[in-house]
Amino acid sequence: MIKNIFLALFAFSLVLAEPSFSLIKKGEENKEAVLVIGGIQGDEPGGFFSANLLATEYNITKGALWVVPNLNFPSIVKNNRGAAGDMNRKFAKISPEDPDYKAVNFIKDIITHKEVAFVVHLHDGSGFYRPEFIDAKHSPARWGNCAIIDQSELKGVKYGELEINANRIVKTINEKIKDKEHIYHLKNTHTAQKGSKDAEQLNSLTYFAITKNKPAYANEASKELDVYTRIYYHLIALEEYMRIAGLEFERSFELTPKGIKEVMKKEIRLSLFDDRFLLALKDPRASINYIPTPINQQFSSNYQSQNPLVAIVDETRKGKKGKETNIYYGNRLLTSIRPQYFEFGHSLPAASVKVDGRDEIVTFGSKIHVDDNIIINSQKNVRVNVIGYENPSKKETDVKITKKDIQRNYSIDKAGKIFRVEFYEQESGKKDKFLGMFLVEFARLEALSIKQG
Ligand SMILES: [Zn+2]
Repeated sequence: MIKNIFLALFAFSLVLAEPSFSLIKKGEENKEAVLVIGGIQGDEPGGFFSANLLATEYNITKGALWVVPNLNFPSIVKNNRGAAGDMNRKFAKISPEDPDYKAVNFIKDIITHKEVAFVVHLHDGSGFYRPEFIDAKHSPARWGNCAIIDQSELKGVKYGELEINANRIVKTINEKIKDKEHIYHLKNTHTAQKGSKDAEQLNSLTYFAITKNKPAYANEASKELDVYTRIYYHLIALEEYMRIAGLEFERSFELTPKGIKEVMKKEIRLSLFDDRFLLALKDPRASINYIPTPINQQFSSNYQSQNPLVAIVDETRKGKKGKETNIYYGNRLLTSIRPQYFEFGHSLPAASVKVDGRDEIVTFGSKIHVDDNIIINSQKNVRVNVIGYENPSKKETDVKITKKDIQRNYSIDKAGKIFRVEFYEQESGKKDKFLGMFLVEFARLEALSIKQG
C-alpha cells in the first residue's frame, strides 16, 4: 500500500513555543527505508530546503523514504549554526542537561530503527573541496561540493559499499554541473583511523550511524553557491541515492535551479486554533493583524501546517523593540502576526454563500476562489465581517461583493487578491464570539491552473 504522507511530530521540548523536528514517512510501509536528514545546522539552508522538498514535492511510488528536514529546528529559524552549539558534535556523548539532548536521542532511535537501510545527511559547506591544495577557497580543508564517507566500506552490511556508492553520486552530479568550479569529489575522512585529520567526526551523526552498522553518507553543497543551486546538487544526489535503494518517485517540478526557485514560491498554508483560522501565505504582507485568538492562548502553541519547515516563533529580534510573533518558512521570515482576543463560539461550522451565482457551503479554515463576486447569506445572530469591505448601508450579508468593493490594503497578500471573511456570534448584552473564517482569493481559476500547472 502506498502512503502519501505521514507526519509524526516529536514534541520533545518542554520549552513552550520551541519548534521540534518532524519525521515524514513516504512510500510503502514496512519496507527498508532511505533516511534523509537535513537541518542539523540552522545556517545550512541548501540541506534543509532540499530535505523539505523531498518531503513535500515528491511522490514515492516504489520503496520507502523517511525524511527529517528540520533536525535542529530552533537553530533553523534563528539562522545560526546551533542555538545550543554544534549538534553534529554531540553524537558520541551528550549531557542530559544539554538543550539538544532529547533531539539527539530521538534521531539516534530513528537512525538505528530496523527499517532504515542507510542514512543520507545533508550539509552546506565552505568553499570547494579539492583533494589537493589549489588556493584557500579550493583545498582539502574545505567541505563544499563533495560526497563524504567516514570509511571506504562497512563490511557485510547491505549498502555498505560506501566508496562505490558515493563515487556513483559524484559521477552523477558531475554530469550535470553548471560550472567547472562546482565539480564534485569524494572525501573520505577516515574518521576512525589513527591520526585522521578529521578525528572530530568521531562525534558526528554519520559516524554514530557507522558504529551502529548503518551505512551513512553525507552530501555537501558549497556555501559559495546561491541556495537554489545548492538544492539542485543536493537533489541530484538524493535522487541517485534513492535509485541505489531501488526507489521510484515522481516530483512536482523541473529539477533545475530555476524550477526549484519557482516551486519554493508556492503558497504555504498554516491553520490556527483547530482550523478556525487559515493563513494562505503567498508573498504575504509584512504583518497580518487583529487575528481572532482565544483568550489565554498563543499562536505558537496551537497551529498546524502541512509544510514541516513552517514554524510560529515568539521572539525579540535584534534591533526591534518588544516581542513579536513571527511565521518562518525555514530561515525565511514570512510575516508577523498579532492577536485580537475573543471568546470562541461553536454554533456554526461553515458558511452559506453564493460564489459567482452558485450556492456553496464553505467550511471554516478554507480558501475559495472567486471569479467575480460573492454573496454571504445572512443568518440569525451571526455578524459577518469582510475585512476591508465598507458599504454605506453597513450591510455585509445578502449583498454582492466584488474585489473592487474591498480596500486593497486589507488583503493578506501583497498582490491584493486574498481577503478574510470572518463570522461572529451575536447575543444581546454579550460580547461577540468568534466562530470562524474563510479566505477569498479573487482570481480566475483558469488563469491559476495555467500558472501553477
Ligand atoms: Zn553542516
